[in-house]
Amino acid sequence: MKAAAIIVAAGRGERAGGALPKQYAPIGGKPALRWSIEAFAAHPAFEAIVLVIDPAHEAHFRAAAAGLDCQIVPGGAVRSASVQAGLEALRSSAPDLVFIHDAARPGLDANMLDALIRALGSHHGAAPALRVADALKRADGQFVHEDVSRDGLMRVQTPQAFRYASICQAFAVLVPDAALDDDVAVARAAGYAIALVPGEAGLSKITFPEDFALVERLISPATLIPLVGHGIDAHQFTEGDFVTLCGVRIPHTHALLGHSDADAGWHALTDAILGAIGAGDIGDHFLPTDPKWRGADSEQFLRHALLLMEQAGGRLAHCDITIVCERPRVKPHREAMRSRTAEVTGLALARVNVKATTTEEMGFTGRREGILATATATVLVPG
Ligand code: MG
Repeated sequence: MKAAAIIVAAGRGERAGGALPKQYAPIGGKPALRWSIEAFAAHPAFEAIVLVIDPAHEAHFRAAAAGLDCQIVPGGAVRSASVQAGLEALRSSAPDLVFIHDAARPGLDANMLDALIRALGSHHGAAPALRVADALKRADGQFVHEDVSRDGLMRVQTPQAFRYASICQAFAVLVPDAALDDDVAVARAAGYAIALVPGEAGLSKITFPEDFALVERLISPATLIPLVGHGIDAHQFTEGDFVTLCGVRIPHTHALLGHSDADAGWHALTDAILGAIGAGDIGDHFLPTDPKWRGADSEQFLRHALLLMEQAGGRLAHCDITIVCERPRVKPHREAMRSRTAEVTGLALARVNVKATTTEEMGFTGRREGILATATATVLVPG
């Protein structure tokens, strides 16, 4: 039996915070989709691996799949179009079996592939599924409207495995614009019975920021070690009526002088992240003389440091920023600064700290000549 894999990675992969699309973000120190490519590549039954990607992500893909043998195909506007593009790419090699897998499910192993191959010996399609343990409710996000019985309900994962000819036939007769959630639904719409094999908690899909740490614990035995970086930044006051600190505009009798928006808080944090991964300082990456950064929003400096960190296999675990000045009073804005920083970094609010202090009217901050900020950042990398 010749088998092929289609890994669907064409989604935008947007997540709250973070830099790389989620399918390329590191988990256990390597890009999420690399785990699945390696699992298929290591299994003797698989002769071809097709990655369906967003062409805009090609550079991310090249970095994530370096050294691995796979074919890439541009994705379609909707998931079913992406899967069809993948099936089409396999037409000349005509495998007996095709496994269609989500890139955001890194916990794939040989046992799961074996179980699905066995199931395809007697069925046209098979998929891993888990029983539902939690009580189910229909709700609007705030209030429960209906209790739903979980009797007979299963959570279906991927890879969803099919005889190649059967799934091609099912897509060929698919009603255009049919709103089907997955490939099992496509096969069933064409009349095929689908067998279920026991799913794995580690095959859970990474959807929300907190899923990274959860799935990582399930699939990666590697120990993560914390690297702590430190950053300092200062800007002097000039004429103006507001300052920007940690992305928050704070009314004041002066502005901060700088080539960019002079956000000392986020500059210090950017330097702390660069410090943790050994990537120099903010000036190495954003030349202060470059006109392109005049008045720039410092969010892009912070996001760039996060991108470099993720490309280096790191994940931000915590940050702590201290603002030192007599005026403006930072405390009333502290929670807003914390929220904005959590939003951009993808950290939970509890993992972001912003504090403010004065120097008791001593030194340049005491004389109200400017603002100093310091930051530490903790980055987890495989040990
Ligand atoms: Mg600065």
